[in-house]
Amino acid sequence: MRIIGVLGGMSWESTQGYYRALNEGVKAALGGFHSAKIVMVSVDFAEIEALQQQGDWQTAGELLANAAQSVERAGADCLLIATNTMHKVAPAIEQAITIPLLHIADATAEQLTADGITRVGLLGTRFTMEQDFYIGRLKQFGIEVVVPDQSERDTIHRVIFDELCQGRVEAASRQRYLAIIDSLHAHGAQAVILGCTEIAMLVSQQDTAVPLYDTTALHVERAVVWALT
Ligand code: GLU
Repeated sequence: MRIIGVLGGMSWESTQGYYRALNEGVKAALGGFHSAKIVMVSVDFAEIEALQQQGDWQTAGELLANAAQSVERAGADCLLIATNTMHKVAPAIEQAITIPLLHIADATAEQLTADGITRVGLLGTRFTMEQDFYIGRLKQFGIEVVVPDQSERDTIHRVIFDELCQGRVEAASRQRYLAIIDSLHAHGAQAVILGCTEIAMLVSQQDTAVPLYDTTALHVERAVVWALT
């Protein structure tokens, strides 16, 4: 079994999900007492969040590149960046390491493609929904992306930072998300990407008939297959 490296803490609320799901995935594959071999470096999200607000992606990239080098030095065979948003600085991180980066958008796009989905809604932070680093990557797989309107994007972003990243799961916010998912579906999205690693804390497949693609779960699945191949 190869060792999975995780760059976590963004936020730690969702990194817990990675830790659990990686271990569950290996246990499901190998049984018994098996668990995942993991090296994790978990950053202080306050530093990252402040840099996001300032638009200082350069410094954020340097900080995460250093953290990724620590993951590699500690023996990891690959790297997962356990957040969609910070894949904005994936190129800087990739340059700093020699182990492969398993990109969260690729893991998601590969599953969408396998399922024959070509037009998909995207929920995530404002950065993920409005910038090209994520949507452009999906487009390279031939996937067309539908994003919520401005006020819906504000709601989604606010819930991620003010609630989910702080461990708060509110029923009213779940209803708002489900209404936005319905509206994306009405606009032709065949499925909706939960493109923020915290969203699975709030919404799950049993809440809606619209097919959901949880990036945390897909990223983890890809890493488990990679580690066991
Ligand atoms: N975990 C989130 C994501 O997947 C948001 C937190 C962050 O800005 O990194 O995008």
